[in-house]
Amino acid sequence: MKNPVALVTGASRGIGRGTALELAGAGFDVVVNYAGNESAARQTASDCVARAAVIGRNIRAKICQADVGVSADRKRLVGFSRESFGDIDLLVNNAGVAPAVRADILEAGEESFDRMISINVKGPYFLTQLVAKAMIERADQGSSGASPCRAKIVTISSLSAYTASVNRGDYCVSKAALSMLTPLFAARLAEFGIGVFEIRPGIIATDMTGPVKEKYDRLIGDGLTPIKRWGTPEDIGKAVVAIATDAFPFSTGEVINVDGGFHLRTL
Ligand code: NAP
Repeated sequence: MKNPVALVTGASRGIGRGTALELAGAGFDVVVNYAGNESAARQTASDCVARAAVIGRNIRAKICQADVGVSADRKRLVGFSRESFGDIDLLVNNAGVAPAVRADILEAGEESFDRMISINVKGPYFLTQLVAKAMIERADQGSSGASPCRAKIVTISSLSAYTASVNRGDYCVSKAALSMLTPLFAARLAEFGIGVFEIRPGIIATDMTGPVKEKYDRLIGDGLTPIKRWGTPEDIGKAVVAIATDAFPFSTGEVINVDGGFHLRTL
């Protein structure tokens, strides 16, 4: 039987890599998208195949360079995925960037703002549009694809969607905007049997948070999160697998916090 197919953006490193590995372990073929780090992408792809083999599953993983912020790249990425594996059962909008320099909102410039909007918002928005159309085309042809589950679109946002960090306002604004993607596409795609979800990670140990590791070590130690540890890419990957394998069959448009309880208000 054919494996279900997942397209994971930004899967060469960090949360995307952890998600690709968990999906491989659940029997998905994986398209490992990356921006520039080809060797990391190759490593993820071969680790995916090895991860599945451990549990006796035979999956395929292929890499594809594409900048999600560039229209032509998004089209090429979807074309590559369909030519390589056929129908896409799951899109994970994970690729995203933090500002190169954290700057006070009274000083921060437009260049970084435009970069955040292009990669963190416009990229996933229009990639979702492309993949959704391909999923609808398949539904119209009466094919349910390889997966016995509903097709899914999962977007990785951030606690920054609702938390004000005044030294990276551009990132916060981009993640707040990204959070509207899920209700919009969930409402539009339900009639085609496509489930749309947002995962909101907390503080996760990746290259992105490397530069602020000591600060966050201290904050977590001081009780910032009820669950007193860093999150891992695997924590996010497990949540994606739960959604992808239909653990929430009567839900769509949901936000799932994977943040050690950061979002809780306590008194
Ligand atoms: P990361 O370690 O910096 O990895 C970023 C990944 O995205 C890499 O695979 C990178 O590819 C890829 N990428 C960057 N720009 C891209 C572009 N324009 N087109 C395609 N791929 C691109 O980041 P991360 O911490 O795993 O974060 C992943 C997502 O989770 C982001 O959306 C981030 O905002 C979000 N998030 C992270 C945290 C956290 O604490 N780490 C918390 C909340 C949300 P290359 O390897 O080729 O550069």
